[in-house]
Amino acid sequence: MSNNPSFVLRKIEDVVYEERSIPDVKDDEVLVAVKKTGICGSDVHYLVHGRIGDFVVEKPMVLGHESAGIIHKVGKNVKNLKQGDRVAMEPGATCRVCDDCKRGRYELCPDIVFAATPPYDGTLARYYPIPADLCYKLPDNLTLEDGAMMEPLSVAVHSVANISQLRANQSVVVFGAGPVGLLCMAVARALGASRIIAVDIVPSRLEFAKQYAATDTYTPPKPQDGESRIAYSQRNAKTMMEQLGIAERGPTAIDLVVDASGAEVSIQTGILIAKHGGSYVQVGMGQPEVQIPITTLLVKEINFRGSFRYGPGDYPLAIALVSQGKIDLKPLVTHRFSFDQAVEAFQVTRNGKSADGKAVIKAVISGPDVSPDDLS
Ligand SMILES: [Zn+2]
Ligand SMILES: [Zn+2]
Repeated sequence: MSNNPSFVLRKIEDVVYEERSIPDVKDDEVLVAVKKTGICGSDVHYLVHGRIGDFVVEKPMVLGHESAGIIHKVGKNVKNLKQGDRVAMEPGATCRVCDDCKRGRYELCPDIVFAATPPYDGTLARYYPIPADLCYKLPDNLTLEDGAMMEPLSVAVHSVANISQLRANQSVVVFGAGPVGLLCMAVARALGASRIIAVDIVPSRLEFAKQYAATDTYTPPKPQDGESRIAYSQRNAKTMMEQLGIAERGPTAIDLVVDASGAEVSIQTGILIAKHGGSYVQVGMGQPEVQIPITTLLVKEINFRGSFRYGPGDYPLAIALVSQGKIDLKPLVTHRFSFDQAVEAFQVTRNGKSADGKAVIKAVISGPDVSPDDLS
């Protein structure tokens, strides 16, 4: 292998290992030897569809953005890190001078350079150059795999702790029990939520959610023939409230709805079951346009928010919650692959299960010099 083997998406359904040169580090950057990278739905989406919304793969792009590694080289202005430090890597470098950056909403920066979002290369390579302040030192009790999982965990922290400002003793419903939904449940639990209801159509996912972080689970009924989506959602919300003893107001009402599914009927149901004056946050990406019960949203004065990636303070809080033992990331890593098994790792994530039938929550690919069994 070359000095910097990289896993590259050339075009739809076409991935190769490329021999790339080792990148230079700028004065305020570090070069990280990437050791663990989780595969995200978005990586798979680019592989299968070549685009997400307006982001289109037009030239070869290295995949991967959920990574942790070891500092290999530091730029000459870097003071907070040294060679050998183990770090979680926040994969979005922002401009620092635009209005959004300056007012502390850097996730909205129009000039963000985000790993594995076209046209920018991702982290599935031996080395990745990154601004030093986007590397967070891992406490000794965290593994590099935990470090890679800080990326999806930060998405959950951003939506539940930052955007929604969940407080202790509040009740939460999370639609979608995939990796991000599960992590939203874990954050809600870590922050002291009194009730965490997991909703999914796959029974095995609900079983996992129940033993992982949810206090209750709910399986939506099947749609009836000829039933419109909104009629279904109204029936679904009513059934859910009856089955789980949810009221519209008061102590048994739902303070926060998190949609991590992106499904239209979940979004509709979520608005219908949130309490009067409650909050709703959209973190799942699904259909780009959906119909929502806007009058209900208005009359209930629902605080309806979008949540995108992560902003100031999200990585540090994610790391702290795991380091303090309030969130356990280990049960979420279901599959591990070596660097040269990256194609298989993507295949397994795409199928949702491996050949032995085991369901995938998160598959992690090790760096070129690391054994998948190395969990240090
Ligand atoms: Zn991701
Ligand atoms: Zn900016």
